[in-house]
Amino acid sequence: MVTPRFRPALDTIPAYLPGKPPSAGAQTSYKLSSNENPYPPLPGVLRRAISAAEAMNRYPDMGVSALHSALAEKSGVGVEQIASGAGSVAVFYHLLQAICTDGDEVVYAWRSFEAYPIAVGVTGATGVRVPLDDGARHDLPAMQAAITDATKVVVVCSPNNPTGPAVRRDELVRFLDTVPPHVLVAIDEAYHEFVTDPGRFDGLEVARGRGNVVVLRTFSKAYGLAGLRVGYAVAPAPVAEAIRKCALPFGVSQIAQAAAMASLEAEEELFERVDALVEERTRVVTALREQGWSVPDAQGNFLWLALGEDAVAFAQACDQVGVSVRPFAGEGVRVSIDEIAANDLFLDTAAAWKSQVVAS
Ligand SMILES: *Cc1c(COP(=O)(O)O)cnc(C)c1O
Repeated sequence: MVTPRFRPALDTIPAYLPGKPPSAGAQTSYKLSSNENPYPPLPGVLRRAISAAEAMNRYPDMGVSALHSALAEKSGVGVEQIASGAGSVAVFYHLLQAICTDGDEVVYAWRSFEAYPIAVGVTGATGVRVPLDDGARHDLPAMQAAITDATKVVVVCSPNNPTGPAVRRDELVRFLDTVPPHVLVAIDEAYHEFVTDPGRFDGLEVARGRGNVVVLRTFSKAYGLAGLRVGYAVAPAPVAEAIRKCALPFGVSQIAQAAAMASLEAEEELFERVDALVEERTRVVTALREQGWSVPDAQGNFLWLALGEDAVAFAQACDQVGVSVRPFAGEGVRVSIDEIAANDLFLDTAAAWKSQVVAS
């Protein structure tokens, strides 16, 4: 049968694999495979979302005006510097669509976020993957060296999903000072609120006064709104305008806008939850290291175990006790920090795996 003809770029695009729920039967099970926030919505946030749902026969505010104003104020920029979308991944798509076409190059670290090769691929641009260093960190000098005349965008993911370390302020500033001003740097700070590294940077501060730096942030992780799909960019005004031009009309629902507004107002309470998750992160990483695991610095709400060829088997062992983690075949496993009972169950499984490996 004759089929419609697709753009050749699609042949290069891997299919996105979503985090799987655990497959185990009757026992309590936990999903540690998608870096979700384990806390249920705050009652006040839920109330505002429900109230917004009463107007679902209407289109949302296309200009996302209240939320953009609030984000501009929070970020210390003008409202013309804000663009939003159905998750920061959508904003990243719109950004690439505004800048990239066939033959262009986009430099990013690897392994990093799985959405990058897909988002780059659909534009027809070529992804240039720069290996992480031995500490599973971005190798910024190597990324700088990978910039060519064809480079349009460089992506910096900090903390890096799935490996965990954050880029430090001093190395980032040094890097930004060397990137040509016509090359756009997208700093993906999806896990910004979880970073405790003393050398950390604030993307908004580092981007200030630079015409080629965009900061991507999301309500999906620290704010716990993954299911509502809202993320945003803080960008130089011409870049934000280009992103808004490429955005899907009405991409952020009124429910998402209302919940995001309510979440900004409830930051104090939400960030107590972030603190608790960070405390759990420290507890889990410390326990793993005591078990003999080598764990890269974990600055998000997840950690990385470089299991290599054992990645899939380890993920299956976790699945059997009701814990789903995210395997990357031949490389490692990413594990989200969740509620205490889930983390404990994971730690027991990791300990059993380690003792079995030591015994054999
Ligand atoms: C989760 C995540 C995002 C944000 O996803 P959205 O839900 O689309 O906002 C962006 N970048 C990275 C690296 C992530 O892990």
